[in-house]
Amino acid sequence: MVVDIRDVRRIYETGDIVFEALRGVSVQIMRGEMVALMGPSGSGKTTLMQIIGLLDRPSHGTYALGGRDVTTLTENERAEARNTDIGFVFQAFHLLPRLSLVENVEVPLTYAGVPPRERRERALHVLARVGLDSKARNLPSQISGGQKQRVAIARALAGSPRLLLADEPTGNLDTRTSEEVMAFFSELHREGTTVVLVTHEQDIGAYAERVVRVRDGVIESDTRQTPRVAAPLGVTG
Ligand code: ADP
Ligand code: MG
Repeated sequence: MVVDIRDVRRIYETGDIVFEALRGVSVQIMRGEMVALMGPSGSGKTTLMQIIGLLDRPSHGTYALGGRDVTTLTENERAEARNTDIGFVFQAFHLLPRLSLVENVEVPLTYAGVPPRERRERALHVLARVGLDSKARNLPSQISGGQKQRVAIARALAGSPRLLLADEPTGNLDTRTSEEVMAFFSELHREGTTVVLVTHEQDIGAYAERVVRVRDGVIESDTRQTPRVAAPLGVTG
């Protein structure tokens, strides 16, 4: 099991206002699954994703990642687990504007202590996988939104994570580009990568084989479905 979350609560305290964004969530995700976390805005999807991604800690409950209890780790141990086990893709891409595409892809490898030459080789390899090796020296400002998200996916994949997390990865993309990005996630899933994706869009959730619906901080349903078949991958956009 990659993710084993049990009775997780997340309580935000802002001044004297206490808000329980997750109110007892249990979810298990197996290796190789592709899961969509869906639900209306404000339901707790991002909160849950940040806990899964070790960017945040539960207020109560337990979390085991790849069989290891991660609720008791120190900040350094959590950062290390994040670097080695988890790849992130965000709605807003989060590319560093002054770094070339290949340098952006190298960033997590730098944190992971991979030596420069190997870093460059691995970064170019994953950039080729997303069809952007010919633009390796370009800056983020010189490519389209869909291409930026492909660079962000390459960056997430560079460290060969056991878990790929994407929070509204198509939120800033048009329909056709969204489909390309989802085709890519589907391909990674077919190759055995565990993919967890947050979306509020039905069309995007349709690519997953399992849909976990969150509402008001609890899991409302957890169902399996036949995933939408992605169109063949192009390298346009
Ligand atoms: P979603 O991703 O489903 O839109 P979020 O997980 O971002 O929802 O937020 C769930 C709820 O928790 C929302 O009501 C939001 O306002 C609240 N929330 C999120 N982050 C914080 C925070 N840092 N402090 C206080 N409340 C927060
Ligand atoms: Mg969100």
